[in-house]
Amino acid sequence: MTEAAATKTYDPNNIFARILRAEIPCNKVFEDDHVLAFRDIQPQAPVHVLVIPKGAYVDMDDFTARASADEIAALFRVLGQIARSEGLAESGYRVLSNCGLNGGQEVPHLHLHLVGGRKLGRMLAAD
Ligand code: 5GP
Repeated sequence: MTEAAATKTYDPNNIFARILRAEIPCNKVFEDDHVLAFRDIQPQAPVHVLVIPKGAYVDMDDFTARASADEIAALFRVLGQIARSEGLAESGYRVLSNCGLNGGQEVPHLHLHLVGGRKLGRMLAAD
């Protein structure tokens, strides 16, 4: 497998970069050396947590090309821990990450949406 070079430029003033610098408040769920997790400001379900790496990664493409094994492991380990601590492991949940234009990504800092607490219906809207 060849490593792709990341080509995207990170905007250090995107809203999640500002949350990471504590310039903007968030409803924090978890924090460690690699990861910050906080509640989405417009939740789509009873539980809607955004899990983000602390490193400057634009999206999933950028993260999977450049992040260290420790950063990648930390993001997914924390995701599972939060799902369990939010009481979602039994009932189930959805994890998604919008990437780029076709993915509908609005904030250009990689984030995983952890959503649950109700039946979520089909994965994609029918439009
Ligand atoms: P995207 O469309 O990029 O995948 O998702 C961005 C998410 O960030 C949206 O669900 C939106 O509600 C959330 N969001 C945008 N601005 C803020 C903010 O300032 N604080 C928090 N907690 N969430 C935000």
